[in-house]
Amino acid sequence: MKTKATAGIAIHGGAGTILRSSLTTEQEQAYLTALHDIVVAGASVLADGGSALDAVTVAVSLLEDCPLFNAGKGSVYTSAGQIEMDAAIMDGQHRRAGAVACVTNLRNPVRAARIVMEHSPHVLMVGPGAEQFVRQHGAQIEDATYFHTEQRYVQLLRARQEAGMLLDHDGDKLSATSGTTPEAAPLDPDKKFGTVGAVALDMHGNLAAATSTGGMTNKLPGRVGDTAMLGAGCYADNRTAALSATGTGEAFMRSLALHDIAAQMDYAGLSLEQAAHKTIMEKLPQLQGHGGIIGIDRQGNIVLPFNTEGMYRASMRIGDVPLTGIYRDFQKL
Ligand code: ASP
Repeated sequence: MKTKATAGIAIHGGAGTILRSSLTTEQEQAYLTALHDIVVAGASVLADGGSALDAVTVAVSLLEDCPLFNAGKGSVYTSAGQIEMDAAIMDGQHRRAGAVACVTNLRNPVRAARIVMEHSPHVLMVGPGAEQFVRQHGAQIEDATYFHTEQRYVQLLRARQEAGMLLDHDGDKLSATSGTTPEAAPLDPDKKFGTVGAVALDMHGNLAAATSTGGMTNKLPGRVGDTAMLGAGCYADNRTAALSATGTGEAFMRSLALHDIAAQMDYAGLSLEQAAHKTIMEKLPQLQGHGGIIGIDRQGNIVLPFNTEGMYRASMRIGDVPLTGIYRDFQKL
């Protein structure tokens, strides 16, 4: 464990039952390259003396623009065949925060969340009201064709076919119908959860976190997940850590998983690693919660625990090489 604070950043692109056999070498490489390039872009903001808030905004915007990930352009469809995105951002220095939910036409929901934080007296805005407000502050609008990806549409058709016999969440569906745990379920890339996020510590000692998602394929219109809920899918506090989650949103919300990690650090003096392990590996599974988190504390310690087969992730400390991973091990590109 380092004692001297080192600026750094970590990102994720979702977690789930991702088995090696499910991805071709080319697909795997495409994910790793995207993660690598995006973590380097976020780190360069920090290396130039930029703020953690700017670094996570840049990283999550790039993840939203990349169709490989379920956020922004790559967002999944609701049961009504629309997209509805959620995002949040939090500044650990002042514990300011902004979030949007159920937005349909914003290119970068994370930038919209930041507009809510910086230009409104509110924390969370939803739907058309949020879209109208952030548009007045320069948010970029896209029409439905921008968000349409064939892969996501096929996922919706498959999810609709399965809906009659499966429960709400893909991972839960498999365990409920087959008696297997989601981790043991046969791999289907459509079963991976999806959300993107970034956490950073800058050279000034400030923390920030941002999270963005299209939610879950075939979700009910109007459903809001943990991503937009502070303390559940996104949280930052300079006194403890910056955290971003991915996984079964309802379980993260019911346990306020990220705030739970920060509270264990604050009240019980646990390290980020100890607290994150307890929440993700012990407490969340008690609520059938599957997924993972990324976190960085004020010393620059980075953790990326997940209780699923895999999590798309990358991290980089300033002055060090980036690490990228999908499965349990890390790859260096
Ligand atoms: N947590 C997200 C949600 O529930 C989904 C995910 O991370 O895969 O909307």
